Amino acid sequence: MTERVVIAGSGFGGLDTALKLREKNKKEEIIVIDKSSFFTSQISLYKLISGRTKKKRITINLEKLYKKHNIKFYKDEIVQVKPLEKAIITMARKINFDYLVLAIGGVTDYFGTEGIKENSFELKKIIDAEKINKHVEEEIEKSKYYTEPINIVICGGGLTGVETAAEIADLTRKKARVIIIEAYQTIMNGFSKKAINYAEKILKKKGITIKTNSHIKKAEKGKVILKDGTEVYSSMIIWCGGIKPNPLTHKTGLRTNEKGAIMTNDFLQTSHPHIYAIGDCSYMYKNPQPTTAFTATQQANIVAWNIHADITKKDKKAFMPKDWPYLIALGKRKGIMIRKNSIKTGLTPSIIKKFIEKQYLFTRKHRRWPLSKIEFK
Ligand SMILES: Cc1cc2nc3c(=O)[nH]c(=O)nc-3n(C[C@H](O)[C@H](O)[C@H](O)COP(=O)(O)OP(=O)(O)OC[C@H]3O[C@@H](n4cnc5c(N)ncnc54)[C@H](O)[C@@H]3O)c2cc1C
Repeated sequence: MTERVVIAGSGFGGLDTALKLREKNKKEEIIVIDKSSFFTSQISLYKLISGRTKKKRITINLEKLYKKHNIKFYKDEIVQVKPLEKAIITMARKINFDYLVLAIGGVTDYFGTEGIKENSFELKKIIDAEKINKHVEEEIEKSKYYTEPINIVICGGGLTGVETAAEIADLTRKKARVIIIEAYQTIMNGFSKKAINYAEKILKKKGITIKTNSHIKKAEKGKVILKDGTEVYSSMIIWCGGIKPNPLTHKTGLRTNEKGAIMTNDFLQTSHPHIYAIGDCSYMYKNPQPTTAFTATQQANIVAWNIHADITKKDKKAFMPKDWPYLIALGKRKGIMIRKNSIKTGLTPSIIKKFIEKQYLFTRKHRRWPLSKIEFK
């Protein structure tokens, strides 16, 4: 009897689960559901902001891709999971499953900051990056008639905020004042002093102002207001404050943590043994992982194996995180690569980052899964 595996969400985690599972298992029915018909490489969105890449270079047409691999794809929005019935409910259908993988990602977290959602741009999807690019260009055009350069405020000095600020600075070429507002004592909080110093040096060279220890209290049209009462006027506010698990997790009937992430064991099983959760919507309670594309793809590898193992009565594998460097782009030709205690800065990390981003998309689009034999071992 063939089993039906349903994969909810086709981002980094869902896409790799589907392809890996199909490669291991030619027989089982695999259904993928995503509300978008394109996979978006969020790790490359920053390049769309400055217009140095095109949408088609950082997306994959899911219908075409899955057809090649004999995987059914529904462009549809999931609204609920019914674990006891082993069913998933979407806007258009109800689908029963033998195994379910939840890879529904996260959403922008505004941390309840008043007025931010209404008055800022977020950066999560292609459309967000395109909107930012268009708006920056328009504001720069308008500012030709102003006596002072405009302000563009980036809220959040984490990795996304830093990459976004650098791209905008490259795009505006000092015709705008780019300001990063960060609540912690430094940008890139948690990273080594050397990496932070290098990032600050490059950002400052690009004319970016960095305001640390600055908590945003609220935003209004054209300004952000800090907790100490300072008002920072801005033609454009971009929120890079963080992400939280997709709120759909609350409609799965599964055990979640206080942030709403679905709790999993080391085998990535949720409170229902035939339902797995990976990537940004999940939380391994014994071994918490950073919410990155690399975590999601590594977990996809394990989930594909574990479902295959369950069907073929083999032993499941526990998730063992592999070491992987952080790669941060600081505009077109500069970057940082951080691996354990070693840090590389300058042109090389920026080239490595671009290469990895391209290679990821290329292998999924064009090849027949070349690395699987190594990765499955
Ligand atoms: C701007 C930005 C830059 C980043 N840079 C990096 C980086 O440099 N390196 C790195 O490792 N990580 C980076 N990340 C984080 C990384 O992109 C995520 O950790 C990764 O995408 C998580 O994969 P995922 O499969 O869990 O979720 P996602 O890739 O977000 O996929 C979730 C999928 O679920 C679908 N979905 C959601 N809700 C529903 C629904 N109700 N019905 C149907 N489908 C649904 C979505 O359409 C999406 O396709 C970045 C993130 C952002 C936003």
